[in-house]
Amino acid sequence: MSLVQQRRGYFGEFGGSFVPPELQEALDYLEDQFFKYKDDPEFNEEFKHYLKEYIGRENPLTFAARLTERLGGAKIYLKREDLNHTGSHKINNVIGQILLAKRMGAKRVIAETGAGQHGVATATACAMFGIDCTIYMGEEDTRRQALNVFRMELLGAKVVPVSKGQGRLKDAVDEALNDLVENYKNTFYLLGSAVGPHPYPSIVKHFQSVISEESKRQILEKEGRLPDAVIACVGGGSNAIGAFAHYIDELSVRLIGVEPERAATLTKGVPAVLHGFKCLVLLDEEGNPQPTYSIAAGLDYPGIGPEHSHLKVSGRAEYYTVTNEEVLEAFQVLSRTEGIIPALESAHAVAYALKLAPILSREQIIIVNLSGRGDKDVEQVFRMLKS
Ligand SMILES: *Cc1c(COP(=O)(O)O)cnc(C)c1O
Repeated sequence: MSLVQQRRGYFGEFGGSFVPPELQEALDYLEDQFFKYKDDPEFNEEFKHYLKEYIGRENPLTFAARLTERLGGAKIYLKREDLNHTGSHKINNVIGQILLAKRMGAKRVIAETGAGQHGVATATACAMFGIDCTIYMGEEDTRRQALNVFRMELLGAKVVPVSKGQGRLKDAVDEALNDLVENYKNTFYLLGSAVGPHPYPSIVKHFQSVISEESKRQILEKEGRLPDAVIACVGGGSNAIGAFAHYIDELSVRLIGVEPERAATLTKGVPAVLHGFKCLVLLDEEGNPQPTYSIAAGLDYPGIGPEHSHLKVSGRAEYYTVTNEEVLEAFQVLSRTEGIIPALESAHAVAYALKLAPILSREQIIIVNLSGRGDKDVEQVFRMLKS
């Protein structure tokens, strides 16, 4: 890919930026600043400092001995994003983008959130840096996720319920974008996954790549060779692209993304423009984005990052779906065999590993990216299992 293409943010035919001119102006400025700082040694020193002192990196690559024995095939390692401060990989990207916002002189940070996890991560880091924080959230979502709204407020953020439209994530995105267009000289829009118009997918990948940078070093230390497969769950695609990044050019490593059956964007999607960029999208018969459903709120999104769309179409990565039953089973199996309760999102990756490991040989190695911990999901699983 030429530099010019890279700068425009295309991954094959996917990506780009399809937004009104006022917003494009803000995105051009952001692109310019990102390319200025991403290789700046001082900026990277500061990022590393917070990864270690605040998030608690590097996190371990844990050998899942009992799970491996139980499955009787490939060795399974778990990359422990669940051990990060706030309990998932999301904080890696939030810290990176806030440091960028600070360099750009932003006085306030805005973000949108659906289930609330990205909002909580953003509010957390804004509290730590003392930055004014506004989170847009669909009114319907503020009711369903009242506890996360309280968490964000506890952390000093202002939560703005959006009642326009259907009062869901999409409407919150629109409100956040309006805010950005009006205030971009002093406001930074902190996007939570590897989606959106250029340069966001590249920014999010850059900051999440720390996952595979560490796992590659760790697996070489422990096993003296690369894994045969890396497995991650896919919502918008940020934990997966971070877990894949340093293996994309290592063609011996299979890259496997796992989606919910009823949000099978990569498995069943077609190319279309959604939320300002081109990607694979699940469309209904009339050509509108199809409503998705997942028991894991973080995977409930009808589109997918442009780079995953390209990795899928080019054949470099593989994407599969698992059922809710398989996810619930994996949630319990990992809890019982390893003493690790995974996030329901992460349990999708575990569920596929449970199928793959037994058909591989004992010499082979799988890394499962454990994107988050399951404390937030225990009550929901309790209700599902006891009803
Ligand atoms: C938000 C979330 C996801 C899904 O988002 P991606 O951008 O696809 O990574 C996965 N796991 C956890 C724990 C999450 O909080």
